[in-house]
Amino acid sequence: MKKGILQKLKEGPVLGDGGYLLELEKRGWVRAGPFTPEVALTNPEALRQLHIEFREAGAEVLQALTFYASRDKLATVGLQDRLEDLNRAAVRVAKDVAGERCLVAGNLSLTWMYDPDSNAAKGRVRATFDEQLEVQVAEGADFIIGETFSWLGEALLAVERAKKTALPVMVTICFENQNSTTEGKSAAEAAKALVDAGADIVGMNCLRPPEHMLAHLEEMRKAVPDAFLAAQPVAYRTPAEKPDFTSLPQFPFELDPLQLSRKEMARYAQQARDIGVDYIGACCGSVAAHIREMARVLGKLPDEQRPWTLNYEKPMSAYEYYDHDPVQASSPNVIRMSARPFASFYLVSWTHLDKSCINQWIREKKIILESQEGVLTGRVDHLGGVPHPRSPHRAWPGPVPFSQTSPN
Ligand SMILES: [Zn+2]
Repeated sequence: MKKGILQKLKEGPVLGDGGYLLELEKRGWVRAGPFTPEVALTNPEALRQLHIEFREAGAEVLQALTFYASRDKLATVGLQDRLEDLNRAAVRVAKDVAGERCLVAGNLSLTWMYDPDSNAAKGRVRATFDEQLEVQVAEGADFIIGETFSWLGEALLAVERAKKTALPVMVTICFENQNSTTEGKSAAEAAKALVDAGADIVGMNCLRPPEHMLAHLEEMRKAVPDAFLAAQPVAYRTPAEKPDFTSLPQFPFELDPLQLSRKEMARYAQQARDIGVDYIGACCGSVAAHIREMARVLGKLPDEQRPWTLNYEKPMSAYEYYDHDPVQASSPNVIRMSARPFASFYLVSWTHLDKSCINQWIREKKIILESQEGVLTGRVDHLGGVPHPRSPHRAWPGPVPFSQTSPN
């Protein structure tokens, strides 16, 4: 029996998956422009493969590719009559890949039909959500994610309809180029409204990279301290005056040079955890390499088991030939250091990892603390780093007054 999403969130941060439609478009299975998800029917193997990549990278949730699988959106590509089989196929593929290892989230998205001044439009949005939910719930989705709502009002309708399924509900809004929802609500106001409507998990997703989303998430964190908070930013670099990547002239065919590196996304995962984000995932532009580094920094990736003997005197790789420092070259989690007592404090202050994480690694023996000539040395090469024969330990960057230190 799998743990439910709310139980998992209670136990600590949960790693989500990455973006599907833009990546599948790059691979030739989705049409740029409409970005409808019929790949679940036309080429389920391509969708399955991407789910597997995210699962193997460490994602704990797979989102069924039912984004834009609503009747009016599908009608724009002549597929309005395939709504049921499309939603069904998408959930089935995700569940098949998830097995016992991941949860599967059903998915609702913006409808492009919401109008705050029209009850008829709201009724149509409700019916649209219900139609998708009926199929997704019948197929066994573990919880529901409603996402990419610029209108808070539409997000609230998603909460209302998803709540009726009795499954846990996560609904996230997005900010376009203005720092508010389309009706002018701040991040804090939106978070409060979503929680008041009954959402279990609230937050932000899509359109913006971490750089232009994290400050708003911090506001949400303060506004709803008792709710679970989710972040799923895009992995594209955008300018401050045009933070919404879909508003850039590079959308959608020249986004490649704007893609963030895996280290940048790993840093985002660290920052998100530090400000108290519970559900840490990603959206458009993020691929398995990003999720893998995010998993590493969140301590969710199994250690590398394969041996590798490095010999800098007799190089057998560019890594050795150019004398790369494994500390610099590998993930942000790989730290080699020497320190005096209270080593975990030093690790905390040097690496910006929180203490509970460091202590967990010490318990799991991923960090080896050892005493050498009275100096306590922390080695964390078990996290995937490799020993460097010329500089076995990186020097502590500077002294810290003992008044600032504290034992474990
Ligand atoms: Zn997105």
